[in-house]
Amino acid sequence: VSIFRNVPLAPPDPIFHLTANYKADPFPDKIDLGIGAYRDEAGKPWILPVVQKAEALVVGDPQLDHEYLPILGLKAFRDASVRVILGADSPAVAEGRAVGAQSISGTGALRIGAEFLRRFRDAATTVYISNPTWGNHRAIFEDAGFAVQTYPYWDAAARGLDIDGLLAALRAAPQQSIIVLHACAHNPTGVDPTAAQWRQIAEVCRERAHFPFFDCAYQGFASGSLDRDAAAVRAFVADGFELFVAQSYSKNFGLYGERVGCLTVVAHEPAVAQHIESQLAKITRAMISNPPSHGARIVSRVITDAGLMAQWQRELETMAGRIRAMRQALFTHLQQLGTPGTWQHIVDQIGMFSYTGLSPAQCQTLIDQHHVYLSSNGRISMAGLNEGNVERFARAVDQVVR
Ligand code: PLP
Repeated sequence: VSIFRNVPLAPPDPIFHLTANYKADPFPDKIDLGIGAYRDEAGKPWILPVVQKAEALVVGDPQLDHEYLPILGLKAFRDASVRVILGADSPAVAEGRAVGAQSISGTGALRIGAEFLRRFRDAATTVYISNPTWGNHRAIFEDAGFAVQTYPYWDAAARGLDIDGLLAALRAAPQQSIIVLHACAHNPTGVDPTAAQWRQIAEVCRERAHFPFFDCAYQGFASGSLDRDAAAVRAFVADGFELFVAQSYSKNFGLYGERVGCLTVVAHEPAVAQHIESQLAKITRAMISNPPSHGARIVSRVITDAGLMAQWQRELETMAGRIRAMRQALFTHLQQLGTPGTWQHIVDQIGMFSYTGLSPAQCQTLIDQHHVYLSSNGRISMAGLNEGNVERFARAVDQVVR
């Protein structure tokens, strides 16, 4: 008999499970709106031309070898990554109180950040995540040993941000809680606070001495501008907060499988930042020893070179622009069909996803009868739509809501 005979079967991850079902469906006109990965006009993954160029430079380098990176990753990458999120002219960078640790993409940055906080914050500290949020947030912080609570985010009736509920929850949270905030392009709702609302959130965080932990998985991908998508983080830094930012280069470089990311730390003083950096190295060493090199080398080439940086920003605008065009196309088709309900939120939302408001039952009908694959919470990945399938999708939605 196995010593593991009492191990229960864990449920499959819903989103990866959905992708597997999509792949197994033989229907030729099936539509995949599940996983948050960019697709081009032909529905195919897009290798950014700037990535092709940078990768050619990486593999063509006669000095290239496959030695270990340092524990905290490529130094040039880490330093440039901090500047990408905080801005090259950030006072925190100039004052030497911002550091970056290379991570296994955004997930790994959240994980090492969570591990650090578990070790160096009070044991009773609670983590607050938005309701709803990316499915992995709760698991990451619970696995690090935290009690996780939620703050309201989505106002279903208004199909927008529940700012009053959000502020009230942060006010009621115990002092010095950890608040996980989506830096831009909130997943799954596609609804971000306005600049004025961010100021209100910052005010409550200051009053209650909360610690902001930004998750930035879509910088540049949301609006097409790296600076605009970093505005909330930079406003908090300008306000004098100490904070963490989990940066992911999965979406904005299309480097999903290469696992490139960075945990950027802003502290009040350089000495504190260095101590935190040393602890992140200790955590990383025991968890993964050191991060992988290939993807970080590609990103590093781009973000340390003005010409490649400019090309990357144009390609970000291409991705963001195609998604905006699909929002408009979907909205227009639904209008033309006279589909019951209001659909303005499709064009108002931002980033990879749209939170349609479709019920779990309607989503299941879309899967079973229309071969349209989407999460049961009604979230659709806008990048899965293109000129070739958007009308068919609109017709399917029209049918399930009638
Ligand atoms: N955070 C959010 C909100 C996300 O949507 C994602 C990816 O879907 C991630 C973090 C992390 O992704 P990765 O680990 O690929 O960077």
